[in-house]
Parts: sequence; structure tokens; C-alpha cells
Amino acid sequence: MRSSWPPDLIRGLIAHHADPIGHLVGILSGARPRVRDGCFLYVSGRGLAYLLLTRRGYSAITLGHVIVSAREPSDAIWRHELRHVAQFERIGCAFLPLYLLWYARHGYRAHPLERDATTPTTLFDA
Ligand SMILES: [Zn+2]
Repeated sequence: MRSSWPPDLIRGLIAHHADPIGHLVGILSGARPRVRDGCFLYVSGRGLAYLLLTRRGYSAITLGHVIVSAREPSDAIWRHELRHVAQFERIGCAFLPLYLLWYARHGYRAHPLERDATTPTTLFDA
């Protein structure tokens, strides 16, 4: 049975579970969100963003439709994070446990989701 819901709405709802976590990280970083390309962007190198990003050498984190960036994202970083948004929409609730499992197995550079986000591949393309 096919759903009559628009595919964009379904993908948005699937990824939505992580949005509150992203907003919490953004708020605890002392930033105010703004909307960019249908996502919420927090820019801050303070608070939780400092602990999660700056101190560990990362530039941004994506949680659902929320992107927290230690500095204003470059076009390349923004494309990378938007790819993570698409991954969240595709994988849904499995994203976070899958990300952590693959991080433990592959580390950051060889992480399949990071590789997919860095050089667009067909990992989740139909
Ligand atoms: Zn990434």
C-alpha cells in the first residue's frame, strides 16, 4: 500500500527525531538558530560546541535538520552537512546508533557516512 503523504514530509518526519537533540546542542552552545536551506544553523565555538567540535578538531555536527557549526560554514562544509541531513532523512532513527557503531569500527576518515558526505557517492541513492 502506497502512502499518500508527500515524500518530503515523510523524510522530514523520519529525520525529525534528532532535531531536539540538535537544538539542545545549539542552545547549550550559546547560539541562536537561523534557517538556511530548510535547516536550522547554529554558529558557535563556545559551550557544548567547544567541547564537541572545536576541542576535538571538528568543524560542525548535524543532528536531523539542525547543524551546529563552530564557525560560519564554508560552501564545502555546508554541502557536507546537508548530505548528513539527507542521510538522517534516509536512515531515520538508525542514524545515531549506526554512526556510533561505524565510528568505533572505522574511525572518522574511513567512516562510510563521512565518506558518503565528503565525496557524494551512491551509498543511499536509489
Ligand atoms: Zn561529516
